[in-house]
Amino acid sequence: MDPARTHRLTTPDFERNPDVLKHYDLLSELGVFQEINRLKSQLIERNELLGEASALFSQTEIPDIARTAAGFLVNKFIPRRLSFLYTLEGGAEVRELAFKNLQEEPADTHLIDLEPFEEYFSVNLGLAHYRDLKEQMDNPVALEDLAPMDPELVIPVKGYAKLYGLVVISQKVVGGEYTQEELAYVDRLMSFAAIAIQNSIHYSGSVTDQKTKLFNNEFIQTEIEEEISRVRRYGGEFSILVIDLDFFKILNDRYGHLAGDLVLKEVALIIASSIREGDVAARFGGEEFVVLLHKAGSSEAFSIAERLRRAIEVKEFHHMEEMIKVTASIGCATFSQLRQMSKEELFQLADSALYRSKRSGRNMTTVSGSGLLFRASRLK
Ligand code: GH3
Ligand code: MG
Ligand code: MG
Repeated sequence: MDPARTHRLTTPDFERNPDVLKHYDLLSELGVFQEINRLKSQLIERNELLGEASALFSQTEIPDIARTAAGFLVNKFIPRRLSFLYTLEGGAEVRELAFKNLQEEPADTHLIDLEPFEEYFSVNLGLAHYRDLKEQMDNPVALEDLAPMDPELVIPVKGYAKLYGLVVISQKVVGGEYTQEELAYVDRLMSFAAIAIQNSIHYSGSVTDQKTKLFNNEFIQTEIEEEISRVRRYGGEFSILVIDLDFFKILNDRYGHLAGDLVLKEVALIIASSIREGDVAARFGGEEFVVLLHKAGSSEAFSIAERLRRAIEVKEFHHMEEMIKVTASIGCATFSQLRQMSKEELFQLADSALYRSKRSGRNMTTVSGSGLLFRASRLK
């Protein structure tokens, strides 16, 4: 076939081409038009799927991935209930994000053992009907965990090495059994969701401090660099706090390293719960923490630091039979458009403020460059 003809045949209105019309009956009988229409709708579907995949991949939080996937699913059909089960960090517990009649229900945490499912789905790939699982898995206890979710289809959210979770879909609200196309669609969509979830897990692993679950130093350094650029460009201000626990070596010596670890973890929880959403808390290393306070000037940073310092001061930590107390010294520094500097200079200011807190008796907040506030902290 010459190239000109090929071109004509592939133009959208080739059905009206005189050459084609001449052989219309034959082509129609052979099913050529039908085949072309099938390919066209397949192409539309593929494009849709690509759009959906990129929407899923742009999410970094698992609940957002689940919500996005649920949003796409209900364009195709409406299940009575749709549950995303995914493992929380550490493994044993499983979180359920459920949608009932399209409404999201409050997230729930279960103790579901995913191991039997991991075993099953390592042999049986892709989506399974619950009735088949019942026959083939031979593990009524594990299946019983899913029963309240009214399961009809169970889809594994699988990485190369492990099962990250399950998607449990109940019967459709209308329309009877799931069709082959619907099953194929769910399977494909969920394989994308699985990749998005894996990415999210790897991402959070690479920015998290394993001991305290706060962000790690690398992450907060990048965030501070971003914040410096943002303020340089758009104005405003932000502050950092450098927090160092007092006499931690003595605490370790007296109560042991495990007790020290427990205190670090609980102090991390206090820090995380004392700051606003969007602010960033990280473990700087050892028994030191850094907090980035967006849009906070020095007086706001001082009051947040003081709230935090007092929360640590009053906390009673329990390890074995012992009740343990600890205090923290804090240094604050503020970056503003009016007072620009490098990230290193900002840290130097916060560090020397921290040093002044230590030198002046510890359990204290010092704000860099603000005589008034510095005095306020000393008169506490
Ligand atoms: P200061 O009030 O001057 O800060 O005294 P300090 O004893 O806290 O200061 P120093 O920096 O000399 O000691 C910090 C100690 O923190 C030493 C180290 O054993 C302990 N430490 C660092 N990382 C960890 C950790 O992950 N777990 C435990 N348990 N201890 C840690
Ligand atoms: Mg230290
Ligand atoms: Mg210390």
